[in-house]
Amino acid sequence: KEFRNNVKPNWCPGCGDFSVQASIQRAAANIGLEPHQLAVISGIGCSGRISGYINAYGLHGIHGRALPIAQGVKLANRELTVIASGGDGDGFAIGMGHTVHAIRRNLDITYIVMDNQIYGLTKGQTSPRSAEGFKTKSTPEGSIESTLSPLEIALSAGATFVAQSFSSDLKQLTSLIEAGMQHKGFSLINVFSPCVTFNKVNTYDWFKEHIVNLEQFPEYDPSNRIAAMNKIMETGGMLTGLIYQDKNRKSYEDMAVGFGQEALAKQDLSLSREQFDKLVAEFK
Ligand code: SF4
Repeated sequence: KEFRNNVKPNWCPGCGDFSVQASIQRAAANIGLEPHQLAVISGIGCSGRISGYINAYGLHGIHGRALPIAQGVKLANRELTVIASGGDGDGFAIGMGHTVHAIRRNLDITYIVMDNQIYGLTKGQTSPRSAEGFKTKSTPEGSIESTLSPLEIALSAGATFVAQSFSSDLKQLTSLIEAGMQHKGFSLINVFSPCVTFNKVNTYDWFKEHIVNLEQFPEYDPSNRIAAMNKIMETGGMLTGLIYQDKNRKSYEDMAVGFGQEALAKQDLSLSREQFDKLVAEFK
């Protein structure tokens, strides 16, 4: 209850993003967070509205730039649990440069991508996640570009936590978000979140038919990066569950020399010249 506010989402009825919102709220409550300990930073797109629908610190940023803002928030106050979120267009097109470098930087942030394989807010154009041959207003003869695989890119970029889920599977999604928030480093959670208004191909039924749940492979070891890459390729990127986790690599903030434990955001701004010089010296 604590993470609910009184803002009514203006997503279309049936949009997958409702379940992502509910899963974030449940996961935050399940791990014992309070609203003032969570920040949700989003980009632009239908899914970008999510930061206004959760009772926590929130910032609805600019297109493709949720991650730079989220990283700034985390650096200013490492005591906060920080979630960055947005859609596949936001994170894997205009924001892809930030996504790759945030992955390899490994700051302790959870990045939740609502992957509906189309641009919804601008009324239905092909996104980097759309399949070849996908027909939209921007590709009336069908897309001739190959589909981007965020899971393969994340592993190649040195990700320490990669997971994928489906917005209809609230139980799995909530537990993956909890695991991502508790992971010490950057966690990417790609969520199949159907756009019921503009994507008439990748529907709830289509995802149910094509998803391969990792629970089917009890011998699967998510600490094995090569096995993870193989499984992603074998399943055409349709697998769900915890795909890869490296629990040993330290996060950026734990490795950064001279990076103070005390939150910058909590420091007294009414500093004397002497105090100011001392603070600057600490961060040189
Ligand atoms: Fe969701 Fe699509 Fe509606 Fe946007 S246009 S709110 S993605 S169903």
